[in-house]
Amino acid sequence: MDRQLTQAVPLATSAEALRQVADRYAGWGVTTVHQMAHDYRLGDALRAVEAAKPPIKWTIYGWGWPVRSPADAWLDFAPSRQLPSNVRTGGIKWVLDATPIERDALMCADYSDRPGHRGRSNYSDQQLRAILAQGLSRPQQLALHVAGDGEMARLLTTMEKLAPAGRWRAKRVRIEHGDGLTPDLLPLAKRLGVVVVQNPLHVLPDPDETGRPWLINRLGGERARNFQLLRSLVEGGIPLALGSDAFGDVANPFLNMMFAIKYERNPKEALSREQALSAYTAGAAFAEREERRTGRIAVGMAADMALLSQDVLTVPLASLPATRSLLTVVDGQIVHEDPAIEQR
Ligand SMILES: [Zn+2]
Repeated sequence: MDRQLTQAVPLATSAEALRQVADRYAGWGVTTVHQMAHDYRLGDALRAVEAAKPPIKWTIYGWGWPVRSPADAWLDFAPSRQLPSNVRTGGIKWVLDATPIERDALMCADYSDRPGHRGRSNYSDQQLRAILAQGLSRPQQLALHVAGDGEMARLLTTMEKLAPAGRWRAKRVRIEHGDGLTPDLLPLAKRLGVVVVQNPLHVLPDPDETGRPWLINRLGGERARNFQLLRSLVEGGIPLALGSDAFGDVANPFLNMMFAIKYERNPKEALSREQALSAYTAGAAFAEREERRTGRIAVGMAADMALLSQDVLTVPLASLPATRSLLTVVDGQIVHEDPAIEQR
């Protein structure tokens, strides 16, 4: 029903909403957005972005089930019309399992607060192999939503059986969220060259109806400490990018930086400010295989940059979310200018 409703929205309305989102990101100093085209076929999502004419770079990923099955997923990537220079297509996002919130991320052991239940995969072993094999035969990237440690282990061992590690490293498979990339799986993940794109919004110590953080109830304290790793990924040589996985106020990258730097529920996994900033810039560029063109300010790179209202490496942590961009530049063009810059 949702899908029918969203597709009934006129193109101009979607485009206007997207334009507002894009302008908001430019105001935060964001120069590239990755949109996982949830609930839309890729062609429909592209038409809306083209009509929106976002002022910043925009990468769109197709969406697997229920929009597309493993058999027909790549049909949307048939050669099509020329896209605007700041819009590109990534690959496909496949949601391999669910989330631990509703206890449906596939875990290696039972949920602590539901004995006998380990969650589920959305795809059979055969379907997972098909998704991976098709991904290998395509130039685009694979973006795989994986939350549970059971699903992560199944994915990594299937990848290992399907192709040599070198082919996977060249592919640079994106693991979206990657909550279940636990310490024992890090060496294999590193060998296969996967990139983790985590969302700090998900690591908040939000309580469930019991009043305790929901993740601790789902997994127990010991397992929860080895779940949703951040610092251990960086130190273990796993490329890390951070993103919002949300719209609206909570998409603020500086708010999310604060969440990752604080990591209240599991401080040993907190990122340093430099690590968080790097994950949002160079890490994000690496995650989309654009590290030779964007993500750092250096001679020969695209002139994508932002002049921020305060030094995010030194301001008090609580002030971080108030950071805004005074000047955002994409490919050398000013795409956002704060009136305050005139007064400086
Ligand atoms: Zn996801």
